[in-house]
Amino acid sequence: MNTISKDLKDVIDSVKAYIELDRASGINEFFVNKPNTQYAIHNTNDLDVLKKEISSCKRCPLYKTRRNIVFGAGNPKAELMFVGEAPGADEDLQGLPFVGRAGQLLTKIIGAMGLTRSDVYIANILKCRPPNNRPPLPAEIAECEGILKRQIDIIKPKVICTLGKFASQTLLRTETTISALRGNFREYNGIKLIPTFHPAYLLRNPNDKKLVWQDMKKIMKELKLKCPSSPKSQ
Ligand code: SF4
Repeated sequence: MNTISKDLKDVIDSVKAYIELDRASGINEFFVNKPNTQYAIHNTNDLDVLKKEISSCKRCPLYKTRRNIVFGAGNPKAELMFVGEAPGADEDLQGLPFVGRAGQLLTKIIGAMGLTRSDVYIANILKCRPPNNRPPLPAEIAECEGILKRQIDIIKPKVICTLGKFASQTLLRTETTISALRGNFREYNGIKLIPTFHPAYLLRNPNDKKLVWQDMKKIMKELKLKCPSSPKSQ
């Protein structure tokens, strides 16, 4: 099988897997809707400057094992910013955030909100992959978190949605469980922050997609985004 055929087969297998997951969970609310058109692409200069500035960062030992720095991607003037934990293997290879299986699910969730990945901004607490996807170490966070803070300062989102326990606990400086944190708006440096489950968790626990969808609806209400009228069944 040539490379293109294999890639196509992988994509088809992946789509089939998601449809089966949704059917198994009985959740029919993650659908691709007509994108909202209220967002425009703005000047990327400030983020580009920061990206260039950290392009050879060696502030923590993770630089030794990374293939690429995963800076972040999306609309530099996004009203909604998603923040995850750290790059995984796929992200490290491609230099882009949330491009593996969990990332595909995040893309699907964003689509269900009537948005595209170009409307929002997606980043992680850490910009380099921890070996074997181990949890980030406090020293690594201490070195890297400043980059995320500068990204947030430049983007100035109206809402930050933290994905999973790690990102939520790190930005909120708390040890409260993600189950207790999710679905409630908090504040991060004057910006509304809402924690929700990580898409990777949803791949293992598809029944909790409905909880994440509740959280997304809160975000849509906060941002005055039009709620998808009537979700179709798959
Ligand atoms: S994880 Fe962050 S601080 Fe560590 S090397 Fe990568 S960019 Fe630099």
